Amino acid sequence: MDLGELGEFGLINRIRKWTSTSNPGLLKGIGDDVAVIETGKKVWLVTTDLLIEDIHFDRRWGDPFHLGRKALFVNLSDIAAMGGTPKYFLISLGVPKNLPLPFISSFYRGLKSGAKRFGVDLIGGDTSLSKKIIINICLLGEGRKGSLLFRSGARVGDSLFVSGTLGDAALGLNILQKNEPQGIPKGLIKKHLSPSPRIQLGQAIARSHWATAMIDVSDGLLIDTSHLLEESGVGAQIWEDRIPLSKLFQRWVHSFSKDPYQFALSGGEDYELLFTAPPEMRKRVSYLARSLKIPITQIGEILPKKEGLTLVRKEGGKYSPSRLGFEHFK
Ligand code: ADP
Ligand code: MG
Repeated sequence: MDLGELGEFGLINRIRKWTSTSNPGLLKGIGDDVAVIETGKKVWLVTTDLLIEDIHFDRRWGDPFHLGRKALFVNLSDIAAMGGTPKYFLISLGVPKNLPLPFISSFYRGLKSGAKRFGVDLIGGDTSLSKKIIINICLLGEGRKGSLLFRSGARVGDSLFVSGTLGDAALGLNILQKNEPQGIPKGLIKKHLSPSPRIQLGQAIARSHWATAMIDVSDGLLIDTSHLLEESGVGAQIWEDRIPLSKLFQRWVHSFSKDPYQFALSGGEDYELLFTAPPEMRKRVSYLARSLKIPITQIGEILPKKEGLTLVRKEGGKYSPSRLGFEHFK
């Protein structure tokens, strides 16, 4: 069997079986948005992400400043999904010899501005020669043991909520790939080049104690929902017509895709938060959305595991999605 058959998540499941852990302070290893390590009353949250030129980004489409910010923000999103507070990060770079210095200085200005906005400090890293640009960030965050939300707490009957709108970043990427930014509002491309992590929202949800599970939507709504379902041992249905779409998205999506839901369901890079809570907590969810001025929409409900993940069409029909979202090797 090769990686094409196994896929990224199949490979991670194998790795999970090949390895074991021995330190009692480890509260969560492989299988969530971050690893969780207990030290006294506090816990450390650790996460890492890799960005590779021509796989995750194209130098022609974005400037190095926003690339630097994005490299940090995709890691911050995983801390947000746990309800933690980001603190320190290390960055390792692989760079080609002919890369102009202003590219790197601008990249670090972007990193610095992102770090300042969320109060995180760069504390080290590593540098090496490489044919293409490789960016790896390892981020450390802090949390309190009773105020963290894992992927694994969803219960049958819970409501499924998502913040913000979905699909904008994937549509933005599609527009850039088709080389058609002329005349198209910058807002659509912005969500791809410059996403924003939901740190404050993640903390508020985790500290509220009414939510049961949470994950960030980085690879696509369906695939990230499936990770939450798998870790919780449950199924779910998602109501297609409830999926929150921005006005810009609705105005432009038909020029780029016959299926308007394709980008929103499996596009990826939304960096929104997907979480579950018992249905009687709906009013509290609405209150939180209003007080933070962030839209939160109920898009479905948690069902028993045997139901799997199904989508309910506006007209009433149901289907099980074949392609869930972005997965490396597939
Ligand atoms: P996310 O999309 O939130 O970054 P991933 O899907 O990348 O999460 O990872 C899922 C889990 O698998 C995480 O706990 C991550 O640390 C772990 N993981 C990913 N790749 C590897 C690897 N090569 N070796 C060990 N653990 C891995
Ligand atoms: Mg994540």
